[in-house]
Amino acid sequence: VDTQGNTTFKRLPTNQLVEALQLGIQYSVGGLEARQAHDVLFQDFLAVEITHFPKAGRTMPKATPPHRFNDFTMRTYAPVAFRHFREKFNIKPADYLASINRPFRELKNPGASGSLFYLTADDEFIIKTVQKKEAEFLKTLLPGYYMNIIQNQRTLLPKFFGLYCYQVTEFLPRNKRGAGENKNIRITVMNNLIPSHVQIHEKYDLKGSTYKRRANSVERQKESPTWKDLDFIERHPQGFFLDADTFTALEKTVERDCRVLASFHIMDYSFLIGVHRIDQSSESPSTPATPVDPFSPKPKRMIYSTPMDNIQAQFDEQNKPDEHLVKAGGIPARTADGQKLSLYVGIIDILQSYQLRKKLEHTLKSVVTDGTQISVTHPNYYSERFRKFLFNTVFKQIPQKAPKLKDDTS
Ligand code: ATP
Ligand code: CA
Ligand code: CA
Repeated sequence: VDTQGNTTFKRLPTNQLVEALQLGIQYSVGGLEARQAHDVLFQDFLAVEITHFPKAGRTMPKATPPHRFNDFTMRTYAPVAFRHFREKFNIKPADYLASINRPFRELKNPGASGSLFYLTADDEFIIKTVQKKEAEFLKTLLPGYYMNIIQNQRTLLPKFFGLYCYQVTEFLPRNKRGAGENKNIRITVMNNLIPSHVQIHEKYDLKGSTYKRRANSVERQKESPTWKDLDFIERHPQGFFLDADTFTALEKTVERDCRVLASFHIMDYSFLIGVHRIDQSSESPSTPATPVDPFSPKPKRMIYSTPMDNIQAQFDEQNKPDEHLVKAGGIPARTADGQKLSLYVGIIDILQSYQLRKKLEHTLKSVVTDGTQISVTHPNYYSERFRKFLFNTVFKQIPQKAPKLKDDTS
């Protein structure tokens, strides 16, 4: 917060950042619309669209509107490739613009990185500022990520819908010659995992590690803290119980996703769980049931946007979970003492990699020459520990009722 009481990020007022992003995305998506769609080519992953937005606006070569901030530049990375990602998830250009153009809600970030988080008014998208090295990494990741999305849309990995860089020149009094200093703020647009129409009673950010994995005192004071691994073990020593089919589907999905992450030497990601306790929905019993029914949520526009869609669960008829629950999209679960839960889950924060560049080269080479040469690197260890924690400690399988055997009276 600056001296005038405005929220700032890298000494810039954040409202400026948000509005610039809105202008930039509008311009970029509008421009794409005019261009003919074609298949994504490799060059499309490397493309950067650079647009200047002078304060007074301009008419040539393409009009930009006047605005109330300083001149700025917006870079849109791989616009054609990201358009294709959005299409894959059924996000029409008009929908994307409609979501982006309404005021964002700022989220209090419990992370240590200092990133800003915003949520679009319709709940669909999370906007997160990322560090330079994370943005660079996402760029190198795009072709592989694209390949994965094409093969498998049902995934708990984050879905990236855009990568942008906002640049302003800051003229500081100490730069006497009037030379400005460029400031860059990199921004990703992703899917939101935690719906706001459903009351979330607990939230966990899990890594499968116990080292320093406890919410700190500041976090604990918050109205809805994000708890960590050790807190989970303390609060749910027996874990969450899933029926066998759901358990298997979730495990398979995470396994598949982790394989992708490990192949990119990504680590330090988390499994996010939003817990809705069904029997404790906040409406007091005296108020007439409606206006907020958590199980008739606004339909999500995006396809494969709920955890249930993403884990590809297939149920046999007698084991089908409550229709009511499936509609809301959360994963049905129970606590050890039988409380009914609906879980909202996904993998987040995947833009950290282990010795990125060198390892990436190493992988490419190893894959080409001999896959068996890849040694057990840290990312593999990370992924193993992550899955072990999730499927031994956090999630438990409800033992399936054995089918009734015919009386054997002979
Ligand atoms: P750090 O690197 O210190 O862990 P960060 O700034 O990179 O933090 P993340 O780990 O990505 O931040 O996310 C911080 C928190 O924000 C998460 O614990 C979660 O509560 C919330 N969050 C992040 N991504 C999403 C998402 N896609 N949907 C809903 N909530 C999210
Ligand atoms: Ca994190
Ligand atoms: Ca991070």
